[in-house]
Amino acid sequence: MSRTALRICPLCEATCGLTLTIDDGRVTGARGDRDDVFSKGFICPKGAAFGAVDSDPDRLRTPLVRVDGELREATWEEAFDAVAAGIRPVVERYGPHAVGVVLGNPNVHTMAGALYPPLLIAGLGTRSLFTASTLDQMPKHVSSGLLFGDANLIPVPDLDRTDHLLLIGANPLESNGSLCTAPDFPGRLRALKARGGTLTVVDPRRTRTARLADRHLAVRPGTDALLLAAMAHTLFDEDLVDLGGCAPYVDGLDELGAALRDFTPEAVSGACDVDAETVRALARELAAAPTAAVYGRIGSCTVPHGTLASWLVDVLNVLTGNLDRPGGALFPQAATDRTPRPAGPGRGFALGRWHSRVRRHPEAKGELPMSALAEEIDTPTDEGEPVRALVAVAANPVLSAPDGDRLDKALGSLDFMVSVDPYLNETSRHADVVLPPPPPAQSPHHDFAFNTLAVRNQVRYTRPAVPLEPGRMAETEILARLVLAATGMHGADPAAVDDLVVGRTLGKAAGDPHSPVHGRDPKELAALLGGGSGPERRLDMMLRLGPYGDGFGAEPGGLTLEKLLAHPHGIDLGPLRPRLPQPLKTRSGKVELLPAPIAADLPRLRAALADRPGGLVLVGRRHLRSNNSWMHNVPALTGGSNRCTLHVHPDDAGRLGVRDGQPVRVRGAGGEVTAPAEVTDAVRPGVVSLPHGWGHDRPGTRTRHAATDPGVNVNQLLDGSLLDPLSGNAVLNGVPVEVAPVAEAVTETSGALT
Ligand code: SF4
Repeated sequence: MSRTALRICPLCEATCGLTLTIDDGRVTGARGDRDDVFSKGFICPKGAAFGAVDSDPDRLRTPLVRVDGELREATWEEAFDAVAAGIRPVVERYGPHAVGVVLGNPNVHTMAGALYPPLLIAGLGTRSLFTASTLDQMPKHVSSGLLFGDANLIPVPDLDRTDHLLLIGANPLESNGSLCTAPDFPGRLRALKARGGTLTVVDPRRTRTARLADRHLAVRPGTDALLLAAMAHTLFDEDLVDLGGCAPYVDGLDELGAALRDFTPEAVSGACDVDAETVRALARELAAAPTAAVYGRIGSCTVPHGTLASWLVDVLNVLTGNLDRPGGALFPQAATDRTPRPAGPGRGFALGRWHSRVRRHPEAKGELPMSALAEEIDTPTDEGEPVRALVAVAANPVLSAPDGDRLDKALGSLDFMVSVDPYLNETSRHADVVLPPPPPAQSPHHDFAFNTLAVRNQVRYTRPAVPLEPGRMAETEILARLVLAATGMHGADPAAVDDLVVGRTLGKAAGDPHSPVHGRDPKELAALLGGGSGPERRLDMMLRLGPYGDGFGAEPGGLTLEKLLAHPHGIDLGPLRPRLPQPLKTRSGKVELLPAPIAADLPRLRAALADRPGGLVLVGRRHLRSNNSWMHNVPALTGGSNRCTLHVHPDDAGRLGVRDGQPVRVRGAGGEVTAPAEVTDAVRPGVVSLPHGWGHDRPGTRTRHAATDPGVNVNQLLDGSLLDPLSGNAVLNGVPVEVAPVAEAVTETSGALT
């Protein structure tokens, strides 16, 4: 029998509401939910293929356990027995840091991924944490931590009200947004133009987003921080600085002006390959617009000065009075945010509280660089133990981290590895135990993380669209059991994990004078929680304690899970509102414009003024029907224009003797790959582009469709040595490479490689 069910789409950061068609327990169709309070019916090709993603026949259905060197199907009990038996001896013999935890970005797209990994890390007590953040967004966390005192306090552009939007290294017409949750991002950009606003795009590629812009600046890759510094310099130089309403909450303005004195438009022009007058024009336009927002994304993060570029994005928002005002860049307020505390000094944000063992990389936000994972496993030192066991949750670093070949070998040398993954992929094939979560239609959904980045405050929750298939285990239970097995409590009731969190959180809230439940009995509060499962009870608790919550009766009419369930298309909580100074957690209680670690990194940026790269550099690219390595096994989402080709500008192709479609060899510091050339003027001369997430040709995987057109792993061109030093983020863009037609001598040489 056919029916419909609602499901928030987990396939990218836009979080669109979907209406699924269900036939005989299977998802057979998906369309945009017109009544969804946030996405209002928008859907992209990935969401439309939700059914195909959900029912991919290569998804694992049962756990796998390695026996005599081979992965074999096993029961859940056998699998968790094996996890406990594999991890605990490593902890007991070598200490907690010998167990690494790797979290891939799909974690942020599931409820389980938000609720349980923090307990796993805390329970293990390990400092060996590696996540996808150091492959794409850690610079933004670090700059927010330093500016605002909270690494997760990230302002987003007020897309629906701004008059002027400056996008740097972002291509939302393909990505649908990142670190900025906005269903129908393309439609919002078109609406900006329709209401007379202006769109400027800075990108070395003429992307679909760039084609929509009023002005497209094809800057040299990796020089965004210089460009932004010169824009800020111009604002000071031409007396255009106007902090607007946030002036009382800003510290360090004079020091900032002095620190940027050398970054004149003329000084950056050569390195950025942008003339000085254009730089000035960008700054003047920003200052003159009634409201404006600067937004930088992956192209500006995954470069040697990623943290400085991310910092300068918000510096420009501050200097033009656009931080924290409607039409500018604002801080969202999610329904599950903590109870707002009164404004005032906070604890601040610290970097480098510990360091990686081999190359002494500082931690950032409790994480070590993913680029360092292989060496932390395969390189002995006198300083502590290598990583000997690994817990990978929804992570495929063999494809997503630099130098996958080295990591591939390193994973093979571990004493023990467990992967929570629906596929036997390039990484999980090394695991001793694979724990497969159910397909998304069988899981509940709430976006804990993305709502903190959403361009409109709203809250939505969808229960599983179809029941769990026989033999499946809910992802929340898998992760709860994993926490227990890894932390010495194997066999305990997984509900105890949720009960523990509920007890602790309510106990803390009851003791907090600013909480609506101050002074109440935590047990009495716990008894009031609704929901049909531990995760739902936790969601109810967070909603009720949150900024819109009912405070367990203190705010009648406030949010509860029960109320949310009565609104299946979500509840709109209104446009973003100014919030300063309340969310600031810096030690001064203000926006600290020139934090010490940033000031200490500026000489490195000053040195880059002299850079004039002569050879080819590589940048990545995103396709609308793809998201990292996740969806290459779905026929509906591959083929056509979604191919792993090397974009080469016609001038470079002519010089190198490369024809369209011809295989070309690309060589970088970490290795070489061969891919078909696609000659196109969508990249600027001197730049070539390969998409990431490809390279599905390793033995022992079980992704049959992906293997038919595997593509190549762009990250194999990297050796893991290039990092943004403040954040530990891998440098993935603006990387020197050599390119030559196959069977011909290498003809293009970059100075950095010789
Ligand atoms: S834009 Fe993202 S969230 Fe929306 S339907 Fe497409 S993949 Fe899903």
